[in-house]
Amino acid sequence: MLTTGPVEAYPQVLAALGRPMQYDYLPAYQDYYAGVIARLRRVLRMDDDPVIMQGEAILGIEAAAAALIGDGDVVLNIVSGVYGKGFETWARRHGREVVEIAAPFDEVVDPQAVRAALRQRPDISIVSICHHDTPSGTINPVEEIGAIVAEHGAYLIVDAVSSFGGMDIFPQSCAADIFVTSPSKCLGSAPGLSLVAVSERGWRKIEANPAAPRASFLSLADWRGASRPGAAFPVTPSIAEIHALDAALDLHEAEGAENVWARHAATAAATRRGLLDLGYELWPRRPEWCSPTATVFRVPEGCDATELRNRLVREHEILISLGRGATAGKVLRVGHMGPAARPENATKFLAALESVVSRQGV
Ligand SMILES: *Cc1c(COP(=O)(O)O)cnc(C)c1O
Repeated sequence: MLTTGPVEAYPQVLAALGRPMQYDYLPAYQDYYAGVIARLRRVLRMDDDPVIMQGEAILGIEAAAAALIGDGDVVLNIVSGVYGKGFETWARRHGREVVEIAAPFDEVVDPQAVRAALRQRPDISIVSICHHDTPSGTINPVEEIGAIVAEHGAYLIVDAVSSFGGMDIFPQSCAADIFVTSPSKCLGSAPGLSLVAVSERGWRKIEANPAAPRASFLSLADWRGASRPGAAFPVTPSIAEIHALDAALDLHEAEGAENVWARHAATAAATRRGLLDLGYELWPRRPEWCSPTATVFRVPEGCDATELRNRLVREHEILISLGRGATAGKVLRVGHMGPAARPENATKFLAALESVVSRQGV
């Protein structure tokens, strides 16, 4: 599986999914859960406890919008791909107005365009951005943008679902007020949870927002402090997926974040280099915009994306991802996430691709 998520899980993660179930009403489970939260806080390099929402990362992103955006808020939605554009739906649902700045989906957002948008509309109170827009394989300069947003005083929501863990990005390094990621991309765990880091001022805004969901599956606030002694979980946690996450975080810490990033970067570099040497065209218009966690390249003329994908599976047992939304049919995507981030996978993939494409006479 060289997919862009969900990805193949580490063997230790699969083993953890088979652990006996636990009963979440026991203090022993509360202690265990608190330990996972503490580990997640270390891995996210946060001062405060993150929360785990019990559903795949879109839940965390939708919950972030519902919690932070009040009916008086003007949201600047930064768009450079399918996921960035998708956030608009929730921003419109909860906010007063949505302002958009957009880059073509094979480019990234210019921080100066964000600065200009904030100057032009001083009433922008919330900014949202997708760090790695996975259908494009591009990385937005979110640290620079975060600094500009902080200077303006707005709150920042960052979708780092497919970048966190696989490269140097953290909630505090981009000054995010809400930072959402997933276990099932670069951390190499099972899908089914949202990992959400909220800043202290983010929590204050949520508490002051009368429209923020409470007593709801969508409520971030309900999960705050759920692992503290004596507190109760709002609903039963996803016991097996928490076990899997725990194992994945353990592996991440044991290998060391910097080593994990290096493995992702080396795999991406080898894949890009090979594709370019073989005459393929990358989707991102500049090499410095390319993600270290996924490589997106154009489908060669004369080939059909789905047919190519299917033949790679049938003939070489290698599964890669198709494009999505605006990139569907135009690109193919190779994930370098979690256990797939090994440079030898680049060689295997390139050999298989050439074999399939050359026999099509392309
Ligand atoms: C995978 C992904 C998500 C989460 O999507 P799910 O369908 O919940 O897995 C969100 N944002 C980005 C950029 C992603 O790649």
